[in-house]
Formats: sequence, structure tokens, C-alpha cells
Amino acid sequence: MIRIKTYEEIEQMKPAALLVGKTLAEVSKHIEPGVSTETLDSIAEEFIRSHNAEPTFKGYEGFPASLCISINEVVVHGIPDKRTINDGDVISIDCGCTLNGWVGDSAYTFAVKGIKEENKRLLQVTKASLYKGIEACKVGSRLGDIGNAIQTYCESYGYGVVRELCGHGLGHVMHEDPSVLNYGRKGTGAKLREGMTLAIEPMITLGNKEVVFHNDGWTCTTVDCSAAAHFEHDVAVTKQGTVILSSFEEIEEAIKTNPNLELI
Ligand code: MG
Ligand code: MG
Repeated sequence: MIRIKTYEEIEQMKPAALLVGKTLAEVSKHIEPGVSTETLDSIAEEFIRSHNAEPTFKGYEGFPASLCISINEVVVHGIPDKRTINDGDVISIDCGCTLNGWVGDSAYTFAVKGIKEENKRLLQVTKASLYKGIEACKVGSRLGDIGNAIQTYCESYGYGVVRELCGHGLGHVMHEDPSVLNYGRKGTGAKLREGMTLAIEPMITLGNKEVVFHNDGWTCTTVDCSAAAHFEHDVAVTKQGTVILSSFEEIEEAIKTNPNLELI
């Protein structure tokens, strides 16, 4: 069942979505070669809790951390551990915050200095595809229009569109109906209605689209070990147009001040 939100509820969701961006901005200040992903996770957890919010991921279906940190060939759901960041890494960080009973869920992929040009291009195209999807997300369109926009754009670069994972509705809980696929046919799927709140999140690979899930039950990597990227925004469908509830603004400001990162 798709849960439609009132305008008042959409306003109430904004602080949670924005806190995710603030958290990712804070984390990005600490990305440098040699730092472990579990250190970055602790920084996120402390930041979220200091803002009177809860890290939504922690304990979600048993997930042990506040962030998913997915490096290079890891597509999504990487579990923070002692693995450290290296020059040239592609680091996707996904974060969820629950604030005042509402969930925000957003992801950004960071380019560590020395990144290969082909990987940098993957990040640029994946991020652009998120906005193509958002553009296609409007009252009267259909879910398939969003997926088609993302798929068509990414495949025009020869990239792989991961099929096993997708975006979703969100609200009081992180995963609500409907599933928001990153591929599909125009004019198919549920009609987009005013008051729908969705997390749109292309997960795109440099090579083959096939992925494998590890025995930890979470980590998802590309079968061909090519790099992957993941960008996610929360949006609300309204009559005045689709509103992006989350923000990359503070993340990108922070990237500019971190000499270990490249703004893509
Ligand atoms: Mg997410
Ligand atoms: Mg999500």
C-alpha cells in the first residue's frame, strides 16, 4: 500500500532528510587515506545522536552500523570495519536518520584523490541519472518513467544498471511501497500521485550489471569487480512539482575543503 502524505507531513519529513546530508558532510570531512570505515561510522553515529536523531540503519534487519560504506567494487550495503581508505578509491556512503518519527535516507559517492578518469565519469553519470529520474517523477507520470529515464541515460554510456536493488517509498519507516526500480518501460507501473514520498537511488556499475551478495548477508559487489556508484535523494511529489527533500549542498561544500577528495 502506498502511503500518501499531506503537505504538512512532507514539511515534517524535511528535517530528517536534511540531517542525512549534514551527516554525510560531516563524515566527508574525515575521509582520508588510512582512515577506517568503522571510524567514519562512529563519527556518523555520534553526529546523528547529537542532533536528537537515531541512525535508522543500526539494527535494521540486523545491520550492525549507522552507515553503509561501499568501496570500489562494492555496490551497496558495505559493513564498516577495519578496512581503510586508499588513494583513488570510490566510496559510496548511504545513511539513514530517524528524526521526530520520520526517516531520511540518502547516499553519495565520493571520489578520493587519484581516482581513475573512467571511475570519475561513472560517478558523474550516476549522479546525473538521479536527476534524470527525479525529472521524470511528477504527478501523472508512472513509476516506469523514472526507471526508464535512469536506465536509458546510464546505458547510453555503456554502464550496468543493477537489477537486484531499487529505490522505495519512505515515511515513518525506511521502506514503504512502492519499489522504485532503476530500469523499466515508459508508461508502465503505478501512477505517480500528489503526496507520494520516494527515495530514488540509481546503483550503477562501470562494467557488467551482475552483482553477488556475500555470506555476511549484506555486502553486494559487482561480479566483474568493476567499480560501482550510488546516489540517492528523497523526493516528494506535489502539484507544484517534485520537491527534493534531501540535499547534497553541504556535502559538496565539505568536499571542496577536503584536499583528499575530488568534487565530481
Ligand atoms: Mg539509502
Ligand atoms: Mg534507500
